[in-house]
Amino acid sequence: MPIFEFKCLECGNVFEKLFINSNEEVDLNCPDCRSADLERVVSRTNYSIGAGAAGNQAKITEKTCGGGSNRCMTLDLPGPSR
Ligand SMILES: [Zn+2]
Repeated sequence: MPIFEFKCLECGNVFEKLFINSNEEVDLNCPDCRSADLERVVSRTNYSIGAGAAGNQAKITEKTCGGGSNRCMTLDLPGPSR
């Protein structure tokens, strides 16, 4: 299961978010200050998803939903290739 790290641009808090389902829509907020101003932290650990083929990586699409202040992210995972 992919875990992504995010850093709050508001208070500098770094937290992890676990994505259970692919294409799941989650709203991300800082657990500390509830800010949605987040930046994805590229972790030192290089987790590979799937068979490790190049380009076969999870992709996070950031978009605005619900009008302006709410930000959602969609996680696109490559389907199981077995
Ligand atoms: Zn914060």
